[in-house]
Amino acid sequence: MNYKARIDSVYNGSAVDGKGLRCVVFFTGCNMRCGFCHNPETWTEMGNETDLSDLVRKIKRYKNYIKNGGVTLSGGEPFLQAEFCAALVNALHVEGINSIIETNGLIADEALIEACDGIRLDVKNQDGRVDKRVYDFLDKCEELGKEVTLTNVLVPALNDTPLKLNIIKDIKNRYSCIKELKLLAFRKLCTSKYERLGIPFPYEKYEEGGKKDLDKAYAFLQE
Ligand code: SF4
Repeated sequence: MNYKARIDSVYNGSAVDGKGLRCVVFFTGCNMRCGFCHNPETWTEMGNETDLSDLVRKIKRYKNYIKNGGVTLSGGEPFLQAEFCAALVNALHVEGINSIIETNGLIADEALIEACDGIRLDVKNQDGRVDKRVYDFLDKCEELGKEVTLTNVLVPALNDTPLKLNIIKDIKNRYSCIKELKLLAFRKLCTSKYERLGIPFPYEKYEEGGKKDLDKAYAFLQE
């Protein structure tokens, strides 16, 4: 079967989307609208229609370069195109390429969770609650023994409060499949993207975060 997907772009050489140097595939379409989103250009479901075989051929060219890392399926929300993503992961495995997925955890597609080498789940606790579907997703990872890295974008004066950090702490303590927790400092590098797209940047009013904010939050989480 010749699978097709809508993607925005392929970036080669990321050191921040999982272990080692990675090739990142940005899928288009997202079922959330996070106020801090760095990739609002992927919100549209349009994207470039891409063949599975063409994409695998393109990634294979970087095989040597990403040999200590792999491929990260990102977006947008990759689970919206789960069938293609599972086929991509399986095709990359044939090439011996490690493949992980960045997700918001709202769609627990069992076949895709099972196929990939790991999940990076970004928990959205900025408004003080976490969608129930995220817990369903983590239940599925637990059941399948899938390794999860939990990420959370820390926005100063928004979700670095004890109440909201405790949400992260509770999730981390509840699931043994979560092997790592990474707090990410809120940045505004994406402001120009919003300007280009003519969309207001929802978190414009918040200050950027830094190492001090992260250290403080990590210390709280370890208490
Ligand atoms: S889930 Fe990810 S891609 Fe979608 S809006 Fe949130 S940060 Fe952006």
